[in-house]
Amino acid sequence: MKMTFWGVRGSFPVTAPLQLGYGGNTPCLGVEANGQTVIIDAGTGIRALGRAIVDRGQREIDILLSHTHWDHIHGFPHFDPLYRDNTRITVHSLKHEGRSLAKIFREQQRSPFFPVSLDDVKADVQFVEHEDGETFCVGSIAVTSRRLNHPGVAGGYRLEHGNSAVAYVCDADLYGPLLLAHELPASSTDDLRLQELRNRARDLAHRADWVVCDTFFLPDEYVPDWGHSSIDDGLQLAREVDAHGLLLFHHRPGRDDTELDSLQRRYQDEAGGEFDVLASKEGLEISL
Ligand SMILES: [Zn+2]
Ligand SMILES: [Zn+2]
Repeated sequence: MKMTFWGVRGSFPVTAPLQLGYGGNTPCLGVEANGQTVIIDAGTGIRALGRAIVDRGQREIDILLSHTHWDHIHGFPHFDPLYRDNTRITVHSLKHEGRSLAKIFREQQRSPFFPVSLDDVKADVQFVEHEDGETFCVGSIAVTSRRLNHPGVAGGYRLEHGNSAVAYVCDADLYGPLLLAHELPASSTDDLRLQELRNRARDLAHRADWVVCDTFFLPDEYVPDWGHSSIDDGLQLAREVDAHGLLLFHHRPGRDDTELDSLQRRYQDEAGGEFDVLASKEGLEISL
């Protein structure tokens, strides 16, 4: 597999000159195996990836969606393959009990919010909602999705190909005290459910080559009901699951390049060589 970062910024896109080294686009990754690219999340980074996919002539496209907060879907209406003939786009997510994924996307992409409705695009767009813990194949990649602790219905992914595994754990509050996930099946207490959600994140990341992790906060910035983790939480997860590498991701919008450079150095030192730590950056490619 080869993983490429097209958008690494959390919450909303930024364009300040001092932030463009790491990039200002919201979350989007491409994971390539056997000549097919699987997309993770549809933040504004998907715009440039869409053009690359059209140039390459790929017409079967799968998008693994973590959840439907704006920063993870607002690039979708600008995804070039939507407006191409003979193209099929399948958007995957975890199951929504209240409103279907298709309905959520239709509501985002309609007048007066956007001039072209999903019914009028040229591509054939399908929506598939998966059960928590289900494993399915996208091309030659085995994909497993699990719920995470974040407001709404949010899921992370584990992608496996040959002996390689990548985990995408975003957006998530990994170790916070509040249960934030909605639409969980009725069961035990909030504390037990929180414990279950932490275990699901551990399942996704278990001995992964790389864990792409929501590291929005520093510990002194942490807000308990926002649904995000700190960089220290990311290191804790990587240690607990014996991961080989941690990619800091979903950077706080205000962080500039100098700060991200120094955070990368500081947390590489904290990892003490147990595993790699990198701050994800637009254009970064990692081969597995
Ligand atoms: Zn987000
Ligand atoms: Zn979110």
